[in-house]
Amino acid sequence: MADPLLTVLGAAGTVTGSCALVESAEGGRVLVDVGLYQGRKELRLRNWEPFAFDPASIDAVVLTHAHVDHCGLLPKLVREGFDGPVHATPNTVRLAGIVLPDSGHLHEEEAAFANRKGYSKHRPALPLYTEADAERSLRHLRAVEFDEREAVAPGIEVTFRHAGHILGAASPSIRLPATGHRIVFSGDLGRDDHPLLVRPDPLDDGSEGPVDIVVCESTYGDRETPRDAVSDVLARIVTDAARRGGVVLVPAFAVDRTEMVLHHLDELVRTGRIPSVPVFVDSPMASAALEVYRAAALDGDPELRPETHGTRLFAALDVTETRTVDASKELNARRGPMIIVSASGMATGGRVLHHLANRMGDSRNTIVLVGFQAPGTRGARLAAGETTVKLLGAEREVAADVVAIPLSSHADRTELTAWLTSGPTPGRVLLTHGESAAADSLADHLAGSIDADVAVPALGDRFALTL
Ligand SMILES: [Zn+2]
Repeated sequence: MADPLLTVLGAAGTVTGSCALVESAEGGRVLVDVGLYQGRKELRLRNWEPFAFDPASIDAVVLTHAHVDHCGLLPKLVREGFDGPVHATPNTVRLAGIVLPDSGHLHEEEAAFANRKGYSKHRPALPLYTEADAERSLRHLRAVEFDEREAVAPGIEVTFRHAGHILGAASPSIRLPATGHRIVFSGDLGRDDHPLLVRPDPLDDGSEGPVDIVVCESTYGDRETPRDAVSDVLARIVTDAARRGGVVLVPAFAVDRTEMVLHHLDELVRTGRIPSVPVFVDSPMASAALEVYRAAALDGDPELRPETHGTRLFAALDVTETRTVDASKELNARRGPMIIVSASGMATGGRVLHHLANRMGDSRNTIVLVGFQAPGTRGARLAAGETTVKLLGAEREVAADVVAIPLSSHADRTELTAWLTSGPTPGRVLLTHGESAAADSLADHLAGSIDADVAVPALGDRFALTL
């Protein structure tokens, strides 16, 4: 029998496009994540390249969570011949059911736009995949509860542990029972103090033997993220905006970041630190995800902190969810003070674009960036303080205040190190899902903290688990 193998197929030296292949001695082939590349054009072009393997040869897929940079190529994988089950936690199954069709819809819109403007080399421009492709791929999803061991392919078992990053997010622990080899994937690892989610589980308790390889994310591997400033900064921004009659515009990732923003606002209203200004959630996907979070809180879902169990989330806020495009556009005529939370989080698309076009030329307004802004995105240009930004076909002035607040759902360097040392020392640590500088910096830092072979793998690197 051949040695089991781990192959890194994505998110090498960059934060998007997560994908890895695990092969067992018995010939089982399992993909862990099949993520979309986002950000710079040369990365996005990779979404169009053929897979590095035959999709029909894959027995099963394991998803860490429902963000598109981890699951967004599933519709393409299914369309190109993958016909097995896709294992994910119950909340990831629910959220993927929202995120993937939306992603297909965006790809169709992008292709239609390219055809109208005639800027594509391909005539007609085709979408990467369609909403119908996405709906078809959802039929492959199978819910697996946390902490239950599931056999997913010949010689490959998986157990999901809490990753604390978004609802449903898991760190899959892979076991090859014939040889006893173990590979743990962090997935995206959350912070210890997420206001709604329970903290990440430790890496491993050692009860199933040593861990050969840990594949760990490194988004914030080069920095410590401050903990306490968020509420204070948000309170000041909203109070100032209320005084000036301004609009606070928050481009936010639809899943989880919207909930975090609402949680902080809810607390500030509840404690009387900000006036109750109207809040508009203007993203159909964010609204759909909100329903999943609200239902989980009412049901007492163990992924959520006990204090949320049986409660109605964000009850202190005056929230309006705008469902239709017309309702979204009507917001353009509305005067402040008000808060608009809209997707996408890096201002790369979605309804937030027309809000930015409408609001960023007015110095009474504030744009609040609340998460990681990948290089090359409009959000990164705003965060860098650029005075004009290209938007909806025109270069536009940025007169509004732009404030970046560290509302992160990724572990920082200290938390990543704590997680990596929270179980028996693994043989090898592979750092993925970080820009090169962040991954390299974390590797240097770990050299003094952990007695394992730490590496930042390149795309296509293979690691044999010797029998
Ligand atoms: Zn994520």
